[in-house]
Amino acid sequence: MKYRRLGRAGVRVSEISFGTWLTFGGQVDLQTAHACLDAAWDSGINFYDTADVYNQGAAEQVLGAWLRKKPRKDYVVATKVFFPTGEGENDKGLSRKHLVESCEASLRRLNVEYVDLYQCHRFDETVRLDETVRAMDDLIRQGKILYWGVSQWEAPQIEQACRVAEKRNADLPVSNQPRYNLLSREIEPQVIPTCEREEIGQIVWSPLAQGLLTGKYGADAKARSGRASDARVNSFLLPWMTEENLRRAERFTALARELGHTPAQLALAWCLRLPNIASAIIGASRPEQVRENAAASGLELSAELLRKIDSL
Ligand code: NDP
Repeated sequence: MKYRRLGRAGVRVSEISFGTWLTFGGQVDLQTAHACLDAAWDSGINFYDTADVYNQGAAEQVLGAWLRKKPRKDYVVATKVFFPTGEGENDKGLSRKHLVESCEASLRRLNVEYVDLYQCHRFDETVRLDETVRAMDDLIRQGKILYWGVSQWEAPQIEQACRVAEKRNADLPVSNQPRYNLLSREIEPQVIPTCEREEIGQIVWSPLAQGLLTGKYGADAKARSGRASDARVNSFLLPWMTEENLRRAERFTALARELGHTPAQLALAWCLRLPNIASAIIGASRPEQVRENAAASGLELSAELLRKIDSL
């Protein structure tokens, strides 16, 4: 496993990180979840991502039960805040109140005294940015979080957060967590150049397009299995399974196999070709998937191969 700096932060994270959305506390049972985490740990993955809202806090609990057996210094744990965690008027968003309360709840569920990376899950139009920036900075001063980041923010929002933090002499965000994979490249024109300038690393989600780029979904999509066939978790994936995407994925699978790689490994190595990508967060429903995907770290892709992939 290779490690990279998390944007401007000094902390080093594994190029492949492990995420808990849909799976933990939902699609997979506790034993399987912990077997996936063991496989991640044994593969050198030191970076684990979750959120307060994943399965209403259950994902953090499943992760926390496993983390308590590990030395605190040997992992980097990230969680998020923004989406509603309750019915109350203040149970959502990026206000100082919700940031502090949701952070406390995450610390309890994760069994940790501090979170390494605390992320604003989305931008909040209803709260002044200086309140959010100052609250994140206060959480850092209080030792409850070490770094803060954002997720799925637009380039101007990221820039604005940096300027606000500088003006207030507060800690700047170190990372952004956007969707990024071969079928979804929206961050390339603006977000990446802005983040390169601001020294903000990308931690990219759904790098395998939720399984579409692993070779298991054929163009006819008849042999649906895994996430696509599970009604509890397939609502985010099915809209991506257009005829065009299935055909592209099939051509990509053929290319990967021709080169002797698995499609999942090639798709992850493709994300990691850019130095601004600090880590690609994989999900997994089985430990074998984790082992296969972790082996993508360090895979170098030639300029010619990148051109071929682009042409697909
Ligand atoms: P992926 O694109 O890696 O998809 C993961 C799923 O693909 C697995 O659960 C598994 O599903 C299938 N899969 C993975 N590896 C293989 C393999 N080698 N062979 C066959 N199938 C495989 O990522 P996710 O969409 O799960 O997202 C990853 C993480 O990103 C999340 O856990 C979360 O931490 C983060 N995230 C963040 C968001 C944000 O807004 N910030 C939004 C979404 C995710 P199955 O076996 O069931 O088919």
